[in-house]
Amino acid sequence: MIVRESVCKTILNRGGLSDYTLNCYTGCSHACVYCYARFMQRFHPHDEPWGQFVDVKVNAVEVLKRQLRRATPGRVFISSACDAWQPIEAQWRLTRRCCELLLEHGFSLGTLTKSTLIRRDFDVFAGRPVRLGVTLTTLDRRLQQLWEPAAATAEDRLSVLRDAQQAGIETSVMLGPLLPFLSDSETQIEELLRRAAECGAKQVWVDALNPRPRVWPAVAELLRAEFPSLLPQYRRMLFDPAARAEYLSQIRTRVMAAARRANVADRVTACVY
Ligand code: SF4
Repeated sequence: MIVRESVCKTILNRGGLSDYTLNCYTGCSHACVYCYARFMQRFHPHDEPWGQFVDVKVNAVEVLKRQLRRATPGRVFISSACDAWQPIEAQWRLTRRCCELLLEHGFSLGTLTKSTLIRRDFDVFAGRPVRLGVTLTTLDRRLQQLWEPAAATAEDRLSVLRDAQQAGIETSVMLGPLLPFLSDSETQIEELLRRAAECGAKQVWVDALNPRPRVWPAVAELLRAEFPSLLPQYRRMLFDPAARAEYLSQIRTRVMAAARRANVADRVTACVY
């Protein structure tokens, strides 16, 4: 893992997913194959492949303090282009300090992680306007190791949810991206929804795999090595508009049927477009 120190001009940025986004790191050592943040390498070129570098924005806290003098309070998504609780955060604690500052200044937080390190910050979140989210793509350990090689196990993420709920923190789950033809059957979705609900998730979003920039080469490489027979199906699902529309329609139907069977339809939103 190549770690570099960098400086940023802004850290609290207006974002499409929330009022603001905040990323204390560029790059993510979790190295998920389907990671949508791979597009960052267009703007921050690195010699290393995605997952093998992290730039630490060492002035993040100072920059945030400056920005907070003027910023209007709103909801902040942490984080949109990295996992804010990836291992290096244990050493730098930048995400923690930024969360403390944001909450002190009247902002609310929505977090999303695949790391158990977020437990460290329950004391910052408890009793505050924070919704703690974890991402799940599959409960199958082998699949998870292939697609999310350095993230916490699905069981560990579920235990984070349980502990957060017990600590009085509101929780949510992002199911996604569902792995096409691998973790997207109605039965698999139902099991994911049941487990998320058992662990206290108040909201569940479901996402399908999208052909975001730089995702396909990484996905295709994995498929070639591990699931070669699925390569043509993935290509069609991602790039043939008719096949994609049909796939997304099937996923919507499966998600809603699975949600009804798991008795969680009121908590589930299928973000499948
Ligand atoms: S944890 Fe999130 S940001 Fe990190 S590599 Fe995986 S998908 Fe990308």
